[in-house]
Amino acid sequence: MFEQSPFYQQALAQLDSIGEYADIDPNIIERLRYPKRSVIVSVPVRMDTGETTVFTGYRVQHSLTAGPGKGGLRYSPHVDFGEVAALAMLMTWKCSLVNLPFGGAKGGLNCDPSTLSMGEKERATRRFTQEILPFIGPQVDVMAPDMGTGEQEMAWIYDTYSMHTGHSCPQIVTGKSAALYGTLGRREATGRGVVYCIEEAARVSGFTLRGTKVIVQGFGNVGSVAALELHRRGCAIVGVADASGSFLCPGGVDPAKLLEYAANNGHRIEGFEGLEQATKEEFFSAECDIAVPAAMERQIDEKIAGLLKCRILAEGANGPTSMEADRILDDKGIFVIPDIICNAGGVIVSYFEWVQDIQMFFWTAEEVDSRLQQLIRRAFVGVQHFAARNGYSMRRAALILGVRETAREKAARGLFP
Ligand code: GLU
Repeated sequence: MFEQSPFYQQALAQLDSIGEYADIDPNIIERLRYPKRSVIVSVPVRMDTGETTVFTGYRVQHSLTAGPGKGGLRYSPHVDFGEVAALAMLMTWKCSLVNLPFGGAKGGLNCDPSTLSMGEKERATRRFTQEILPFIGPQVDVMAPDMGTGEQEMAWIYDTYSMHTGHSCPQIVTGKSAALYGTLGRREATGRGVVYCIEEAARVSGFTLRGTKVIVQGFGNVGSVAALELHRRGCAIVGVADASGSFLCPGGVDPAKLLEYAANNGHRIEGFEGLEQATKEEFFSAECDIAVPAAMERQIDEKIAGLLKCRILAEGANGPTSMEADRILDDKGIFVIPDIICNAGGVIVSYFEWVQDIQMFFWTAEEVDSRLQQLIRRAFVGVQHFAARNGYSMRRAALILGVRETAREKAARGLFP
């Protein structure tokens, strides 16, 4: 079951850690410790060989209090019930912290997308959508991309759902291509949001980004855009890691060239000129000002936290840092930008996409970016002031604000029946 998962335990420990500070009715906290609704489905897929493979799919809705469930759909061989349930809980705090009218949800399909053909991925995505159809809807639960999924998977979900309802329903899913009623700026939104948070953190810490050194773990949608945006601001990208390994490049790497290389190299950065192979420990020990974990959860444990030399840790991934590591980062005076604010740019622009699809009225790229900046910078400043006023870490402050808002709504609505 999900309760045994170490990642779910981490998410629960975070929730419990704010108990004595947040002044929330323990009866409400008790309700928040469990996902509201969890669906596990078998997804039989006809493979190209003619054989049938059955994948396991999950959709977990942690809270539907503030509005439809909102959160990504992940394709990865690591996906399990506990991981999805933990991620759904984090989505609740994230949406609440940045004041979006959504609850938190997450989905996953246990598969290795790198080994699936386009046809297999399409059949898996459509069948998964069909299996969870009674539990999703534009006012019920709205999916989006996450690790291993992107615009194409969202297009298939949109189409499958629309075939079922009998009319086009783009607001069933966000993260679609702009040509298919997606929004401009969604693909870049999470990475850009990370960088707006880093700018705010650097301002509070009294330094500017130009000339600083950065390491980025993960070179997918979040890590690559963050690296590009930081490079544009004059930062040197001195370390990059992805599934093919961890690499240092003391002279700094050009992320645009690296991205082009990876696109022609099976989405792997390994082999790019100037990258020196390093262990994970060497990578995180690099002399740098900013570290961006943008790969997956539970990457920074006590040992890695002890090695880090950065001034700012910007959590592009969800749940990258253990509770024990958090304490070490605090002691070392590292400015942590917690996940639920740092990577909220993605779901913020997903909200914009949902709003545009409902209204069938579309915004310019400038409008999207300026509203993203408004929301994420305001939320960052709110968290930072709350932390400073109370002597809390950024993590504790963000969690208290996120959980408290959800708890307030639950308390005001009461317990049914
Ligand atoms: N998967 C992203 C996240 O973890 C985005 C979710 C969304 O846009 O709904 O925040």
